Amino acid sequence: MKKKYWLMGLVLAFLLALVTGCGSGASGNASNDTLDAIKKRDKLVIGVKYDTNLFGYKDPSSGKVEGFDVDIAKALAKKLLGDESKLELKEVTSKTRVQMLKNGDVDALIATMTITEERKKEVNFTDVYFMAGQSLLVKKGSPIKSIEDLKKGTKVLAVKGSTSVTNIKEKAPDAEVLEFENYSEAFTALKAGQGDALTTDNSILYGMADQDSNFELTGEPFTEEPYGIAVKKGDDKFTKYINDFLKEIKSNGEYDKIKAKWIKEE
Ligand code: GLU
Repeated sequence: MKKKYWLMGLVLAFLLALVTGCGSGASGNASNDTLDAIKKRDKLVIGVKYDTNLFGYKDPSSGKVEGFDVDIAKALAKKLLGDESKLELKEVTSKTRVQMLKNGDVDALIATMTITEERKKEVNFTDVYFMAGQSLLVKKGSPIKSIEDLKKGTKVLAVKGSTSVTNIKEKAPDAEVLEFENYSEAFTALKAGQGDALTTDNSILYGMADQDSNFELTGEPFTEEPYGIAVKKGDDKFTKYINDFLKEIKSNGEYDKIKAKWIKEE
């Protein structure tokens, strides 16, 4: 009889260990303390774009992922773990990023992500680290000069999961909006003449115009898109850590250096 209890206890303990010890992914620990998990793992895992020139872009010839967001991630890895190479990048898109963070696939998102009230229900945001505004990209010589020209019969290209889709539907309700999986696909479609304009943040559109001089931005920005770094909902400790880090790189000149490397002031 006694032996049976002892055996049952053993089985229970084993099951308990299985349940608590087997968190998966980047922040896989039961306490939901990302900072602690990063230090134990000795590696920072950040979700960045691979499709967004100047912010997070995988160069097809070199295979390297580079941009403003990537450099911010490297600086954070250096601050956290003393070495910017202790950073693992994972590809996210506007559509997949929130779920990847929720799943614990990444510790944080540094991915051209606008801070919105809606998104705050699902993630924690740091302070603003970049300010953008939504605009339009068109072929040079296009009759579209501003958002007012997006009338019935015009096709506007945008990316799923972005604020750009919601905003354009609200601000140009007569235009037809075609939604793509990522910015590479949307830009390819614009180049192929599948739409009259592509809409997203001006910061991203500059990166496209930079890649193909047949295209230009038109009109004034018609929204405000303050970018924040997203961490797991409720992880205030890690959010504060990144806010302190942002203050530090802004005051020691590192932020300006990174910005000057990628962003041309227009
Ligand atoms: N900043 C906007 C957003 O968060 C557009 C850029 C993007 O798709 O990431 O949705």
